[in-house]
Amino acid sequence: PATESKRLRIAMQKSGRLSVDSQALLTSCGLKINLREQRLIAHVENMDIDILRVRDDDIPGLVMDGVCDLGIVGENVLEEESLQRKLDNDSFDYTVLKRLDFGGCRLSIAVPQEENYTGAASLDGKTIATTYPRLLGRYLKQQGVNARIVNLKGSVEVAPRAGLADAICDLVSTGATLEANGLKEVEVIYRSKAVLIQRKGLSDERQLKLINKLMPRINGVMQANESKYIMLHAPRARLDEVIALLPGAENPTMLPLAGNDAMVAIHVVSSETLFWETMEQLKALGASSILVLPIEKMME
Ligand code: ATP
Ligand code: MG
Repeated sequence: PATESKRLRIAMQKSGRLSVDSQALLTSCGLKINLREQRLIAHVENMDIDILRVRDDDIPGLVMDGVCDLGIVGENVLEEESLQRKLDNDSFDYTVLKRLDFGGCRLSIAVPQEENYTGAASLDGKTIATTYPRLLGRYLKQQGVNARIVNLKGSVEVAPRAGLADAICDLVSTGATLEANGLKEVEVIYRSKAVLIQRKGLSDERQLKLINKLMPRINGVMQANESKYIMLHAPRARLDEVIALLPGAENPTMLPLAGNDAMVAIHVVSSETLFWETMEQLKALGASSILVLPIEKMME
């Protein structure tokens, strides 16, 4: 029936590096997700939302083809799919609603450690293995380098040792995997984080309303992740010095302490944490009972 609203469909990675954080983000926005491990579609019990759990590679396409309304995916996968679709003359429209605070990594070129690498030109005439042929191709073109790209879906890091390629272009977060395979990172060609994307042309009133409700919650959760609630007792005589040490505390809350006129309690919400060094400085000013607490949610 026409009055029945369509449920909002959100695509997220089923299992992998983004799945835990994606699910945690949605859960902390108040979605009660009914997860039965093997199910493709998970129902949200308390909102008109369905969660589609898929391979991360499928997420950009699902959103670009309008099969899903929202998606959480790495920019690397999103950009690779966009470039591919541009070449194929397929639709590649979407809107980024929010760059998220997880899934950070870089797409880098790495060569064998003993290799004498002096710049992108060193790659001329070489063979490079990658899962991201379009992103790599764009980079090589920008650099005016002629190299052959070997497209591998997995185990890219063993390609040089296996004699399949001279170099690789792969995702890196710490570099430990590269080192373990006798490789060194020589160029960062793309920096990526997870993003929340929306399909183009979404026009259902109720779905738009739902998104407008979710966005402040997502912002609130992300802001809370970065913020701390700081409490301490400070000597009245040195209040100015104490407050000057607290990050982002223009108007702290001050509360009297029962039976102690020389000290006051100070509470602040800070956009950053207190480092041990600052806590020691506060202590040296006569402050005591210094607490740094995580914040779960916030709304301004
Ligand atoms: P799927 O089975 O869903 O296709 P996958 O093996 O392709 O999973 P994962 O390894 O789970 O993908 O990585 C998913 C995304 O996590 C990457 O595309 C990237 O955006 C991000 N990521 C963050 N850190 C790393 C890292 N060190 N290595 C690889 N990906 C990373
Ligand atoms: Mg994948």
